[in-house]
Amino acid sequence: MTLIVAVANALGCSGGSEQVGGSAAEYLAYEKSLGSGVDVTGVRLREDLEELESDRSVSAILEIDRAHDVPELALAVRTRSGVADLRSILAEVGIAVDIVWSDRLAEGELVDVPWPGETQLRDLMTRYRDVPVREGQWHFYLLLGRKTEAERELSLVIDPKRRTGAVAFVDPEDEAGTLHAVGHEIGHLLNLPHPWEVYGNTRSLMSYPWRWEDWDWEDPEVFRFDAVGRRHILRAPEVVVRPGGGPLG
Ligand SMILES: [Zn+2]
Repeated sequence: MTLIVAVANALGCSGGSEQVGGSAAEYLAYEKSLGSGVDVTGVRLREDLEELESDRSVSAILEIDRAHDVPELALAVRTRSGVADLRSILAEVGIAVDIVWSDRLAEGELVDVPWPGETQLRDLMTRYRDVPVREGQWHFYLLLGRKTEAERELSLVIDPKRRTGAVAFVDPEDEAGTLHAVGHEIGHLLNLPHPWEVYGNTRSLMSYPWRWEDWDWEDPEVFRFDAVGRRHILRAPEVVVRPGGGPLG
């Protein structure tokens, strides 16, 4: 993949041919990685937080509102070790999720050119978010659009101060890229950072594929949260993890 562009946006993710924040210099400072990555044994994401004594288990709704030209998707891919899908990805971190394909937006309401501003995305989320949750259930909100350029990778958390919702522009025919983008944004809603910004470049859902020289879509690890991320989701205090619980970081 050509990497002419892109900037890491602290609030989400970007790649491709559009610049949405930061600076080109910031992007160029990221080296591509090769090999097995970093040793995260024993690493904790937040040393300042008390860790639960046992793994948390919750139920959740993932509400997806999609652009007019995005069909309902399986959000599943085949890897060398079987099928990876969003439900099993979240089940591994104690989250039993119901995926609800809710509203279909009108033509022109969710497009990637020009890149929609955060106010516009928040307005869409406020207007369309309507799937009720039970007491204690977590709620993830996702706006899913179709990207208009193959190389462009633009997804981000809509409201980083609260982490209730994210937007992802995907190519629905690219099942691996789509599952990775959706899982990655859900990771941000669970308050996970990009690993290389905190503890090293792991090969996982929170990686950027284009930061690796040997990225492999058949590797099941690329559809999992890494060990640090799993521990954070399962053991960090609920308010730090639950979407809507507070700011990113
Ligand atoms: Zn990201």
